[in-house]
Amino acid sequence: MKELLCITCPNGCHLEAGFEGDELIVTGNQCKRGIDFARAELTNPTRTLCSTVKTVFPKTPVVSVRTAGEIPKGKIFDVMHAINGVTLSKSIGIGEVVVPNVCGLGVDIIATSNILKENQV
Ligand code: SF4
Repeated sequence: MKELLCITCPNGCHLEAGFEGDELIVTGNQCKRGIDFARAELTNPTRTLCSTVKTVFPKTPVVSVRTAGEIPKGKIFDVMHAINGVTLSKSIGIGEVVVPNVCGLGVDIIATSNILKENQV
């Protein structure tokens, strides 16, 4: 059995989960979503990643970004490396794509701030 912290909602249930043969055993969950979370964590854990990218604009040296969807947990360092390699040279706003199809995962990196447009760089 593996100890997990369910991050699906603010309750943060402490789970114990594991497979006995094909059957998934989960304890500590207060709702069914904890079972879904445990199954995903044990078979294909994913995360949404939030970070920042550099810009060429002195008034706004960084802009916040996130993955537009979930990515495999094991790819987080590859995606961070890709994000760290970006320097924005044009003004973008919330929801605009910063890195399309990052690392070939089928997920874009998008801006989560309008600060570049607000600062009128
Ligand atoms: S098991 Fe249910 S109640 Fe507990 S943290 Fe997960 S989603 Fe929330």
